[in-house]
Amino acid sequence: METYEFTCPDCGGRFVADEPTLEAMVTNGCPLCGGSVTTDDFVGVDDEAVC
Ligand SMILES: [Zn+2]
Repeated sequence: METYEFTCPDCGGRFVADEPTLEAMVTNGCPLCGGSVTTDDFVGVDDEAVC
């Protein structure tokens, strides 16, 4: 499954999200601060480049 690295533009929180999590966050906002989230806040992570 593709994964994404998320950086919140409001609170600066960073963590990795999979695609269902990405979609939920775009819908519901940042789980840390509630700020609005767009797909621009996610950077795709190549699985082979992670650990
Ligand atoms: Zn946030």
